[in-house]
Amino acid sequence: MNEFSWIFLAALFLMTATELWLSMRQGKHVQAHRDKVPKAFEDQISLSAHQKAADYTVAKGRFGRKENIYGVIILLAWTFGGGLALLSNAWDGLGLSSMLTGVLFLLSFIVIGSLLDLPFSYYRTFVLEDKFGFNRNTPALFFSDFIKQTLLTLIMGALLIGVALWMMQSTGELWWLYLWAAWIGFALFMMWAYPAFIAPLFNKFTPLDDAALQQRVENLLARCGFKSQGIFVMDGSRRSGHGNAYFTGLGSNKRIVFFDTLLNTLNEDQIEAVLAHELGHFRRKHVVKNMVVMAVISLIGLALLGWASNQTWFYEGLGVSQQSNAMALALFMLVIPVFMFFLHPLMTSLSRKYEYEADAYAASVSSADDLIAALVALYKENASTLTPDPLVSAVYDSHPPAAMRIAHLQMNSA
Ligand SMILES: [Zn+2]
Repeated sequence: MNEFSWIFLAALFLMTATELWLSMRQGKHVQAHRDKVPKAFEDQISLSAHQKAADYTVAKGRFGRKENIYGVIILLAWTFGGGLALLSNAWDGLGLSSMLTGVLFLLSFIVIGSLLDLPFSYYRTFVLEDKFGFNRNTPALFFSDFIKQTLLTLIMGALLIGVALWMMQSTGELWWLYLWAAWIGFALFMMWAYPAFIAPLFNKFTPLDDAALQQRVENLLARCGFKSQGIFVMDGSRRSGHGNAYFTGLGSNKRIVFFDTLLNTLNEDQIEAVLAHELGHFRRKHVVKNMVVMAVISLIGLALLGWASNQTWFYEGLGVSQQSNAMALALFMLVIPVFMFFLHPLMTSLSRKYEYEADAYAASVSSADDLIAALVALYKENASTLTPDPLVSAVYDSHPPAAMRIAHLQMNSA
């Protein structure tokens, strides 16, 4: 234990206490508003739908708090509990090259981490989501997804970790800068490759075959000066009743994806308005701005790693005596989320600003009233709470509360 241990433990304690406190606040606030639909929604949302949203929010919160505590136990077990040291010694014992030992150590660390999370994601899908009628997954599909994800992680992880360890070993003092450049290149490549090669491993994408809707979408795209490689419908209903629409891809692989669940929930006008909102994110350059923010954060992170990986106190402060590049990466993956937690309010406030801008864009090229109707329908369908605790919302929510978004849109439509 050294000074860094105390700084880390204080940050971990502060993060966990804040998470638990916010979660309890959210539960209390939602409970307190459970028996009355907010005025603005009285006409569209029934009391029973409102109460279902409240119960769903409370149940997710209760489960989330258990996950928080479990996460802290796992983190402490890896570090001060000796988990990482044990794993590292096991691979060292095989007498392989330091490069191969490092890759195997990190890959096994990642796979064990996702196995430790598995019971929670199983419970979330088959108990929590199921109880509220959202689950469409089957255990067979769930486990085949898990195996596919693990294989993908192993293949891409081996590549990335191999490159990272090689750079740390062979490119001198500034390895973190080269690694950053490689990381950005990889992220851009994945944005391009994901829709065409990876997403189809998990879902079926079929071209939208509704001619009338297709025409409306094409008209909207033309109005907004937007080119895409097509409009696809994804079989989201294979796993969940929650609906969504998104843009994906980069350059020539850009495409628009609608969940089949969304197409069943919204009418044509509303679908157009939702799509116009998504286009607004592109037109207002949010996608590019987000990429720049991520690039800056990862540059700072890697510079910190470059510095910390040479400091004995970094390893010893986290309860580990083995110093190696692979160990530095593992420790970094574990501790960085703890310190990043305190950036949440900043990141989410930026994101909420973007949502208002995209809404305003949608109001200008499509219809504010249709977007309002779509939002209400989606809140109802997803059982999202209309009455979040304001402080909780300010810390976590990437989207402004429904009531505030609608108030802004009404100003736009007036
Ligand atoms: Zn948005």
